[in-house]
Amino acid sequence: MDFFLTEEQKMIRKMVRDFAEKEVAPTAAERDEQERFDRSIFDQMAELGLTGIPWPEKYGGIGSDYLSYVVAVEELSRVCASTGVTLSAHTSLAGWPIYKFGTEEQKQTYLRALAEGSKIGAYALTEPGSGSDAAAMKTTAQKDGEHYVLNGSKIFITNGGVADIYVVFAVTDSTLRHKGVTAFIVDADLPGFSVGKKEHKLGIRSSPTTEIIFENCRVPVANRLGQEGEGFSIAMMTLDGGRNGIAAQAVGIAQGALDASVAYAKQRKQFGKAIGSQQGISFKLADMATKIEASRLLTYQAAWKESEGLPYGKESAMSKLFAGDTAMDVTVEAVQVFGGYGYTKEYPVERYMRDAKITQIYEGTNEIQRIVIAKMLLAD
Ligand SMILES: Cc1cc2nc3c(=O)[nH]c(=O)nc-3n(C[C@H](O)[C@H](O)[C@H](O)COP(=O)(O)OP(=O)(O)OC[C@H]3O[C@@H](n4cnc5c(N)ncnc54)[C@H](O)[C@@H]3O)c2cc1C
Repeated sequence: MDFFLTEEQKMIRKMVRDFAEKEVAPTAAERDEQERFDRSIFDQMAELGLTGIPWPEKYGGIGSDYLSYVVAVEELSRVCASTGVTLSAHTSLAGWPIYKFGTEEQKQTYLRALAEGSKIGAYALTEPGSGSDAAAMKTTAQKDGEHYVLNGSKIFITNGGVADIYVVFAVTDSTLRHKGVTAFIVDADLPGFSVGKKEHKLGIRSSPTTEIIFENCRVPVANRLGQEGEGFSIAMMTLDGGRNGIAAQAVGIAQGALDASVAYAKQRKQFGKAIGSQQGISFKLADMATKIEASRLLTYQAAWKESEGLPYGKESAMSKLFAGDTAMDVTVEAVQVFGGYGYTKEYPVERYMRDAKITQIYEGTNEIQRIVIAKMLLAD
């Protein structure tokens, strides 16, 4: 067992931390306030190679691994959870299914553009009537010669409106329920594709979340991802890895909140001494740090297993569940450490607390993670 990052992974952590502190942190509060996505931050991530960390160089990536990728999401989320999820959705949710199930041509066209960061990716599964029960989706894809004609809408799409490439799931045979779902790679400039309502959210406010609409949108057969009927299992396998990206986001948010809390506890004086020297506050900090470290280990373990080609579905459900709950607990405690100031926008901890909540909800709520874990425990 080796608990040390490799030299390459350490170098990626240092590079992302420097970039996050210099280029992302200074505008995080303002972008949150204005609900503003900043493409120039994404472009800078592309220049650094962050948009293609786990993908081979022949597809435009930097040929590193999933552990380096989760370290990058963690470091970005430590200062700005919105930027963290932009990269996570782009890599885990759009790049991964194309890497695993795409044809060579799809990889050269789409994965390369995502890895190089000339295009932004998104993943479109959720619909108004189908969230946790994703197989209840209604969006249809009807074959018509060399095209599939897509009709319907998807909601809550991360990177919606700013993405150029969407991995979309639609029903090709409604009699088969989840076995009748097929995956597609959809270019945002296709006629019949449009972006609908933008959500105004509690947290991750500079990550755009939108509806997307298909009205007789003709997608070439060449853009089908995998075979007809394989879409649901592609969607679920994609979420297995995606969840670990969200776990990394949660670890980063919690670490950012802890770092701010430790600094404040040393400097804020009440009753003639630093509040950190009161056991009530120092015990909070100790509990926060311990839970974060446990979350980090679960997250890195799942990423390491994926990089090694070992099964990682249960581990990533566990990392997402534990790290998401930790991020929520830790950020609530961080606001408490800051007292009244923590409740204001003068300090970042209220933003961390708002951002943390989503990590218990998306890519499968934490109730769904418990179902996934329990199913694996109880399987024969
Ligand atoms: C900011 C944001 C970004 C998102 N990004 C994306 C994206 O990029 N792509 C995408 O496709 N989707 C995305 N989603 C959708 C997200 O994955 C879903 O919101 C989530 O899976 C839950 O679905 P739902 O909202 O319909 O809740 P529901 O499924 O209606 O669940 C409501 C409640 O019931 C609970 N529940 C449901 N079924 C069960 C059960 N069987 N047992 C126990 N409890 C249950 C849930 O845990 C939850 O607490 C995003 C959502 C948000 C808010």
